Amino acid sequence: MQRESWQRTHTCGELRAEHAGQRVTLNGWVHRRRDHGGLIFIDLRDRYGITQVRFNPDVSGHALEEARELKSEYVISVTGTVEKRPEGMVNPNLATGEIELAAEELVVLSPARTTPFPIDDRIEASEELRLKYRYLDLRRPEMQKNLLLRNRLYQAVRSYFAANDFVEIETPFLMRSTPEGARDFLVPSRIHRGKFYALPQSPQTYKQILMVAGFDRYYQIVRCFRDEDLRADRQPEFTQIDVEMSFVTREDVMSMVEGLMAHIFRDILGEELQTPLRRLTYDEAMRRYGSDKPETRFGLELVEVSDVVRDSGFKVFRSTVDAGGIVTGLCLPGGARYSRKQIDELTQFVLQQNGKGLVSLKVGENGLEGGVAKFLSDAEKTGLVKSFNASAGDLLLLVADEPERARTVAGALRLHLGQREGLIDTSRHELVWIVDFPLLEWDEDEERYVARHHPFTSPMDEDLSLLDTAPEKVRAKAYDLVMDGNEIAGGSIRIHRRELQKKMFSLLRIGDQEAENKFGFLLEAFEYGAPPHGGIAFGFDRLAMLLAGRSTIRDVIAFPKTNRAVSLMDGAPSDVDPKQLEELGIAVIPEDKD
Ligand code: ASP
Repeated sequence: MQRESWQRTHTCGELRAEHAGQRVTLNGWVHRRRDHGGLIFIDLRDRYGITQVRFNPDVSGHALEEARELKSEYVISVTGTVEKRPEGMVNPNLATGEIELAAEELVVLSPARTTPFPIDDRIEASEELRLKYRYLDLRRPEMQKNLLLRNRLYQAVRSYFAANDFVEIETPFLMRSTPEGARDFLVPSRIHRGKFYALPQSPQTYKQILMVAGFDRYYQIVRCFRDEDLRADRQPEFTQIDVEMSFVTREDVMSMVEGLMAHIFRDILGEELQTPLRRLTYDEAMRRYGSDKPETRFGLELVEVSDVVRDSGFKVFRSTVDAGGIVTGLCLPGGARYSRKQIDELTQFVLQQNGKGLVSLKVGENGLEGGVAKFLSDAEKTGLVKSFNASAGDLLLLVADEPERARTVAGALRLHLGQREGLIDTSRHELVWIVDFPLLEWDEDEERYVARHHPFTSPMDEDLSLLDTAPEKVRAKAYDLVMDGNEIAGGSIRIHRRELQKKMFSLLRIGDQEAENKFGFLLEAFEYGAPPHGGIAFGFDRLAMLLAGRSTIRDVIAFPKTNRAVSLMDGAPSDVDPKQLEELGIAVIPEDKD
């Protein structure tokens, strides 16, 4: 193919000392211009790097004058000769720092307006501005690095699955609405007026049907859509690595995932991941960390002391335990130095987490001190110190509440203190499985059980008999993978027998009619020979975020929406032409303003 004279021969990250003497052409954006009177230096940037271009009177001629007009972010083509930089002028911070380009010809390919913020990693622009001008934000080396990592992650995932006999299959985006969990995004049909498609919250039913179809190892990197209420760092559309396998047990799925994670760690981080990964039961995670997605890279584990304070003279402890609640908490080493004000702040934090209050006890040379200590017997005091293995100078922080709330609140406090005290070892990643989740959850508002994972999740075989007697005690063949305190994947072994599925629906108070309506096609498919199967889905964005060392998924998504589900760049969601609505037979009811 003929190269036009302005077209690049090399990228801006490519030239080294060995290219000295060659005549080359570079294309890119003017990153910075430095005017030294007779001499002009341009840092020319593309996604591969930055190359210094020098315009000087000897060789640049007319181009020197033109270079004076260049501004930041102009797109230019420069042709010239590669020169080794003189000793002492080498820039070790730049991959191309050994050379510079002595410009002979300059072509402005496109001028640029002054950008609303500098294209620089040390950016101070608000995120709103960055999202509105996302194409400028994405020019920054840091953001380019994030998206390139995301790209490598796609490749690592695909190569692992390809090597392990998985089949990549696309499932529809326009599907039947089967709301379960989050709200569906609806798409009106023009051809079938008054009818709607839904965008998939996940390809769950399709992937299970693919198992019935005989594709025993399926995966897909797939967009999912959930019209959830706005929560921090959620996106209405997000990407999953979706997986389903036939003729497998929980162990098979988990070891496949461990292989995938080891492959990703090797490929993306150049690290060996130790497998098998650690496992915690849901119960243990809640007791020790007060969370089903525990940050395990620091200690400060919770210790339950209900037995120690069961008969306490401190009424809050005694009455909580009497009423079936618990007293749990943690010991902050050296925390006795905390001032009154700092402890008040911790109490405020506990209240914000819906806790009832916080009891703090300083450990002095002679045992426990502090307001509440005077209500405690000597046996209680020594019992508490012993339970926490506390020493003089430590601080005990306790909460009393019904079990789940007490644990969650204490867990949130643990994480808060871990962050505040800089206890979390962020130099490494830690992966842990959470297993044996409860199958069901009681929904106070609806006064019925709901599936914790989804209605197709299988109960543990050994708990089947409890389905009738104590459903809340039934554990599920479900598993979550937690990385650095974030849930990055979750899945389960599914129910493949119709009888059990029926029972599950009745427990969830999903009537025959409703089940037929929502999942009839899946239930029918199961009647034609369904293999035992199970799977998992990864939050791809979250995984990419953690691997890139970022703290929001927006940093690894090219065009994310804000926390208010708005796209600031193109202004979605927006009004539409009334004609479009008319064609669809839709009328919008204006919002009640009062
Ligand atoms: N479809 C489930 C989800 O999106 C994951 C799974 O069970 O495979 O959470």
